Amino acid sequence: MASDPTPFLDRVVTSIVRVPDATTPAQQQRAATIAQGLKGLRSMGIVTVRDLLAHTPRRYLDRSVPTDLAAIVPGEEVTVIAHVDTFTSRRAADGRMIVISVMLRDDRGGRLAVSLFTGSAYMARDWERLLRPGALGLFTGPTKMYRNMVQLTSPDWELLDEDTEYSNERIAQASDLITVYRGKGKVTSRAISHIVRDVVGQMPELDDADPIPAAVRKERNLVSLAQGYRLIHQPRNFAQKNAGQRRAKFEEAFILQAELARRRADIRSHKAIARHLRPGRLLDAFDDQLPFPLTSGQLEVGGTLAADIAGTTPMLRLLQGDVGAGKTVVALRAMLQVVDAGGQAALLAPTEVLAAQHAASIGSLMGDLARGGTLMAPEPATRVTLLTGSLGAAARKKALLDIASGQAGIVVGTHALLGDQVHFADLGLVVVDEQHRFGVDQRDALRARGETVPHTLVMTATPIPRTVAMTVFGDLEVSVLRGTPARSHDRATFVVDERRPRWMERTWQRLADEIRQGRRGFVVCPRIDPGEAVDSGEQDQPDQQSDIADEAPRDLHSVEQMVQYLGALPALAGVRIAALHGRMNGDEKDAIMAALAAGSIDVVVSTTVIEVGIDVPEATIMVVMDADRFGISQLHQLRGRVGRGQAPGICLLVSPVAPDSPAGKRIAAVAASDDGFELANVDVTLRREGDVLGQSQAGYASSLRSLRVIDDAQIIAQARADARAIVQNDPTLEGHRALAAAIAEMLAGRAEFIERA
Ligand code: ADP
Ligand code: MG
Repeated sequence: MASDPTPFLDRVVTSIVRVPDATTPAQQQRAATIAQGLKGLRSMGIVTVRDLLAHTPRRYLDRSVPTDLAAIVPGEEVTVIAHVDTFTSRRAADGRMIVISVMLRDDRGGRLAVSLFTGSAYMARDWERLLRPGALGLFTGPTKMYRNMVQLTSPDWELLDEDTEYSNERIAQASDLITVYRGKGKVTSRAISHIVRDVVGQMPELDDADPIPAAVRKERNLVSLAQGYRLIHQPRNFAQKNAGQRRAKFEEAFILQAELARRRADIRSHKAIARHLRPGRLLDAFDDQLPFPLTSGQLEVGGTLAADIAGTTPMLRLLQGDVGAGKTVVALRAMLQVVDAGGQAALLAPTEVLAAQHAASIGSLMGDLARGGTLMAPEPATRVTLLTGSLGAAARKKALLDIASGQAGIVVGTHALLGDQVHFADLGLVVVDEQHRFGVDQRDALRARGETVPHTLVMTATPIPRTVAMTVFGDLEVSVLRGTPARSHDRATFVVDERRPRWMERTWQRLADEIRQGRRGFVVCPRIDPGEAVDSGEQDQPDQQSDIADEAPRDLHSVEQMVQYLGALPALAGVRIAALHGRMNGDEKDAIMAALAAGSIDVVVSTTVIEVGIDVPEATIMVVMDADRFGISQLHQLRGRVGRGQAPGICLLVSPVAPDSPAGKRIAAVAASDDGFELANVDVTLRREGDVLGQSQAGYASSLRSLRVIDDAQIIAQARADARAIVQNDPTLEGHRALAAAIAEMLAGRAEFIERA
């Protein structure tokens, strides 16, 4: 075996773990456990040693802390540590099986009945010898109610206090910690721990396979790869376990950050064309006609962008700013700088509705300056061209021509802009709006055009905590635009308890009042129709949450049902109501929004498709049904749609959940603060671990295993600094083979995820 050239981690588990010889019943049973485990591993996706060692314990139990038996809920799979109180056995009615009843006890008077079955009297006697009163054991299995008692049926078990063949593997090593693995069918936790023990016993030092260079390990006080595996699978105490886990987290962060650093270095090794400011042209003309002064934040970020764009290193910048912070103006000014320098700028929006809206609002901000090539246009004017998938053939042809000829200085569009037929004369800047809807790969697709790469600005209204930004957007610099200049009024948000009919009555009354004053409203529902799943809109939702396990299932409001209900409500008689959701096509949606803006519709009942960007200044009221079904940042985005004009906005968050439930607290937090960044922090503390990135952030986030972006902020920052230093000195990672291999493996896993998604 020593001559096998396959690296240890790539060996097939079944080729190195043998089923032990057995003579006593206990040995036989143990051998059977291992044999069944080896047979079933593949069905759990475990083939190689690496796979096995990556299957880390689900829990670590301290054997000196017996389980509180009274707290066990029937119907669940449990793992308990407890002392045997009594042992009795009898023949089953058919005379073939022996039924064994073991009563467990804890020191608080709690009891748990265990039933075991065997066909062998010999085995039953052996069990009686082992499971004698007072013995301490670990039992894992399903529970149910039986004769007014919680019963554990046919559990997997082992002894914790005696050095017998039945003892837990850990006891022999004088450990206080019992590892519990996630099993599957006959591959029990115990089978896995036997197999892992065998493998770890054979494991050599894995220095050549360690993606973390020795110098980094020393600097950060991290154990080696092999030691990390030992400490995770066979810790003697919690301190050892923690040291193993810390290493695993660092490794994960390090590999991810190394890849991000590599990409960044790769992009920065390309050149961008420097687009210098040209005074006295389009940008200056634009500034001169702006109806408002720029805020200090806009000026500051604008200065940063202007300097980035004037350089030959491609800009890679993320601009975060709350809804209404005025990001569009900032981005537009950067685009105008590029146009002044002879280039073109593209603005990429996640949906057709948004692309159209962007084109319209850029058009109105620029006025005649957007009418390049027409008679009334002043000299420095350019053309703003919209390119979306739903353009007619003729319009599309014209748009493509404008883009290829360079007539269009500014091009606004959806994914259609990424199409092969789209050729820019000289693309100098790409602005991506609402990053959370775009994957890393789409970003790269745009960058990959031509010899020089365009500068890239990514904008998001979803405030992202710094560590999250570092993890998901590690290849981007981050700028933050603070404040909301245009909001002349406070926007009030209230929680409405749906269980109180009076409150609901007042809610609809309020909606009617607003409409009567010539204003418009939104009613948002989580579903399209009653039988349907949650609307996923045109793309993935950023953060649908479901941490409501503490609450009974209930019917959620749907767009269809709400349209009917509101239509029949006397309080809303005469109000014109329309539905809007992700199953409608782009034209239909545009038509509804246009009608709302024009005032021929008063209320739009919709799913979250209205979440980002759409601007209807007359919209003053939003009612969100089942508000507990939405995430904090999503609610904040949603209410950003109202109160954008002269009149103050109001947002009513309707929900039947208790105020002190997790969901209730989340809604209360949204009602209490109108600052997106403050909410982002609340969000992070309230959310469940691992949920921070949301499913649709199909960047690397999806591949995170043990890392928690918030809790592990420091580890991520350190790993990022170390990874950047290494990539800087060794851009091709020639001298860091193990790291390069680990990156390749991560990318392969990620590709798999994207295919599945
Ligand atoms: P967002 O950051 O959400 O994209 P926008 O760029 O759409 O915000 O700006 C929101 C509104 O604020 C727009 O109507 C815009 O014209 C206006 N606005 C932008 N900057 C200023 C400013 N400095 N003063 C007043 N209004 C502004
Ligand atoms: Mg915007």
